[in-house]
Amino acid sequence: MHRFFIDPHAVCGNEAVLTGEDVQHIAKVLRLRAGDEVTLCDGAKTEYTARIDSVEKERITLRVLETAASKTESSAEITLYQGLPKAGKLETIIQKCVELGIGKVIPFDAERSVVKLSEKDFAKKQSRYQRVAYEAAKQSRRGIIPEVGGLVKLAKEDFSGFDLILLAYEEERGTTLKKALRAKMDAKRIALIVGPEGGFAPEEADMLIQRGAVSVSLGPRILRTETAGMAMLAMTVYELEF
Ligand code: SAM
Repeated sequence: MHRFFIDPHAVCGNEAVLTGEDVQHIAKVLRLRAGDEVTLCDGAKTEYTARIDSVEKERITLRVLETAASKTESSAEITLYQGLPKAGKLETIIQKCVELGIGKVIPFDAERSVVKLSEKDFAKKQSRYQRVAYEAAKQSRRGIIPEVGGLVKLAKEDFSGFDLILLAYEEERGTTLKKALRAKMDAKRIALIVGPEGGFAPEEADMLIQRGAVSVSLGPRILRTETAGMAMLAMTVYELEF
């Protein structure tokens, strides 16, 4: 069944109204008609099975048949802090992490980031990155559209909202990701921090550890930055059964 994100306010009682770019897509590309059923998702973990009542030029009216909580979201939220990678990689990282259940992706300007962008220059690309997250959320039937945040500096970031901060540190030899997760199985707000191609400068890793991050190894092999985030996320989701 075709699936569309809608604005939560588009549903009123057992009626829903779809507007915007999806109207054309439904009418002209999918050629759906009155009587056809679709799934609507409000982006806040609620889904509606709805039957099309009418297809007009600018809007589609639907009758809500069933309301349910999204089955693809958990009570926990995982945020990936991704060291700004070389051009073209961030889209892939966002897409795969959305499929794997990420809640938010926040790129950061790492000491060893090869690419140096100002927050302003990054902001010009942000809508494209958010579009990647939107398309991946639709494809993977997510109950939310994960947010892609603006470029930050970790030294200025407020981590107080997290109950577990995991720093994937390539120099870590003692603590594995599994060990750190098993020590905090009730974590609900998790931050995963992954460095750029150049990795973490020791003083950068120390600063994060000082601020409560648990330094973890992802195993004996060195993963590319675009592999590390999705691998760490997949292992976290698996271990905590999110
Ligand atoms: N320049 C580093 C080096 O050669 O050792 C490699 C950095 S790696 C390409 C990019 C990021 O992926 C690292 O900063 C870290 O966050 C993560 N990473 C990759 N492999 C890892 C591992 N085995 N354990 C922990 N983190 C890893």
